Amino acid sequence: MVQHTDPHAPHSPQCQALLEQLGDYIDGELEASLCAQLEAHLSSCRDCRVLVDTTRKTVLLYRQHRRESEIPLPPDITTRLWQALQDNGCVE
Ligand SMILES: [Zn+2]
Repeated sequence: MVQHTDPHAPHSPQCQALLEQLGDYIDGELEASLCAQLEAHLSSCRDCRVLVDTTRKTVLLYRQHRRESEIPLPPDITTRLWQALQDNGCVE
């Protein structure tokens, strides 16, 4: 098997870090200090603002359908969201 990089990977380390914390952030479970860092990044990164907004809506819908509050995010959700954003031209 040949390893290859994900062509849809975020383009900065800050964006990557945000993605890794996105689930906890949306759940309101992120540490306050990390939350502040993440929000600071959001204020300067339009791509991530779109991503957080889209993800939050997706998660809320997902949970309403399941009527559960403790279902973890599907592991590929952020990958699929990035793909969707790129398809829509929201991410360069
Ligand atoms: Zn970003």
